[in-house]
Amino acid sequence: MTKRRVLLVTGGGRGIGAAVVRLAAARGWDVAFTYAGNRARAAETEAAAVAAGASVLALQADVADPAAVAASFAAIDARFGRLDALVNNAGVTGPKGTLAETPEAVWELVLRTNVIGLVTCCKEALKRLPQGGAIVNVSSRASVFGGPGEWIHYAASKGAVDTLTIGLSKEAAAQGVRVNAVNPGLIETELHAAAGMPDRVARMSVGVPLGRGGSAEEVAEPVLWLLSDAASYITGALVPVGGGR
Ligand code: NAP
Repeated sequence: MTKRRVLLVTGGGRGIGAAVVRLAAARGWDVAFTYAGNRARAAETEAAAVAAGASVLALQADVADPAAVAASFAAIDARFGRLDALVNNAGVTGPKGTLAETPEAVWELVLRTNVIGLVTCCKEALKRLPQGGAIVNVSSRASVFGGPGEWIHYAASKGAVDTLTIGLSKEAAAQGVRVNAVNPGLIETELHAAAGMPDRVARMSVGVPLGRGGSAEEVAEPVLWLLSDAASYITGALVPVGGGR
């Protein structure tokens, strides 16, 4: 069994998840992470975390597929023999569209990935954390704004993440597991282009009190803090990381 604490990050190949993987490695964690299909970007993230001194396990696994999630946790058991924390980061927006334009299939994909996939990971993690630990869910400020004209389906999925963070924090406290969320605002990643809005962060930054979009690293910092013993009395918190917006 490894002596370093072990963290699982879902969707850790690129973007915010990759920044969490890199920072965790630098802060002394061993790290397992999943990705959907971009093996090249996952390999880059893996190499950076190894260079920072971590033992790293990169796993291709769709978070919406319960069998793939179960296999990922089994691989972590085999490789590390322990798990100390989970960051539920994997998430998709689906395409831009009003509620009237958005087909049920998009709702199903987004809810299955962002909500049910996250629930599956929480259940698997809780089985491995009988002596305590920490879970951080990567939600979104969209849960408060509602995503009108862009993605109500995505915003509603993050509303579910906020609510289940509060509920699970109260259930899991009995086994010493803290459950918190970060709610990022406009963060410079490839997520916006994937939804068909490559200029979204630049266009909307004027409405951010701090006057700019944020970086993935600026989200990774509060995630690592919430995972750490420095946040030992914090559970059920939803931490906005949106530059004031
Ligand atoms: P991103 O740049 O699109 O990266 C997403 C990562 O998640 C990739 O590594 C991707 O894998 C992986 N992933 C996607 N679907 C997956 C699935 N079904 N199973 C496993 N892994 C999957 O996104 P991001 O901007 O970093 O977003 C990360 C999280 O932050 C999401 O939950 C998102 O909702 C949230 N968030 C983002 C922003 C923002 O402005 N960027 C704001 C608020 C909240 P591949 O690399 O293999 O494709």
